[in-house]
Amino acid sequence: MRRKLAAGNWKMNGTTDALQEIAALGRAHPEAAAEVLICPPATLIAPAARTAGDGPIGIGGQDCHDEAEGAHTGDISAGMLADAGARAVILGHSERRAAHHERSEDVRAKARAAQAAGLMTIICLGESQLQREATNTLDIIGAQLSLSVPDGSTGENLVVAYEPIWAIGSGMTPTPDQIGEVHDFMRARLERRFGAGVGRSVRLLYGGSVKGENAGEIFAISNVDGALVGGASLTAGAFSPIISAL
Ligand code: 13P
Repeated sequence: MRRKLAAGNWKMNGTTDALQEIAALGRAHPEAAAEVLICPPATLIAPAARTAGDGPIGIGGQDCHDEAEGAHTGDISAGMLADAGARAVILGHSERRAAHHERSEDVRAKARAAQAAGLMTIICLGESQLQREATNTLDIIGAQLSLSVPDGSTGENLVVAYEPIWAIGSGMTPTPDQIGEVHDFMRARLERRFGAGVGRSVRLLYGGSVKGENAGEIFAISNVDGALVGGASLTAGAFSPIISAL
């Protein structure tokens, strides 16, 4: 049985005041059956981990470098994230692929470093509007999946998030059939590459305009094991119904 996962990606939002949302979320879900993660900006990882303590909320990063240390001004290594209290890291988000020119090969190198540092990697994939209109969504997802995911990944250190770029922050979501088609495809690809045992243990998240109102319908889709949530993860009030829907 795959444990459900609700992961919040705060992106470049939140200063010290926002830590109270993590505390409130922990109080609202003291014994959540699902795993709950908040990935705040790097400046908040250490205080967020202190706020979360031994409670039900885990803390993650939003990116890391593929090397352990060195002359990389402005970058953060996976070991540094772990040292600050993160247990996971989001990699290959479409905003980073676009704004920082990250290719799937770069994402794989980062994921290898993160897994070596003991972090769970949440690797993001997704097609653009143009790619979906050209109806080659599964080709895009298949290529991103095989190139971005490192060998040696397991159900413990790998989570894959399907985030159609056109659904992020837009209020638009794919139909349940469209989400199910991609998630079934990703599951089949993972089983083919890693074998049925590992392939079936990797959790697959959907991301893009998930809210309390649509979470139940999305979580009922086959091979959807949870969500990667942006805007609706910024407050405990908005994230809590999503966690409850799992
Ligand atoms: P929204 O939930 O704001 O659409 O963002 C999704 C996302 O990009 C999560 O990584």
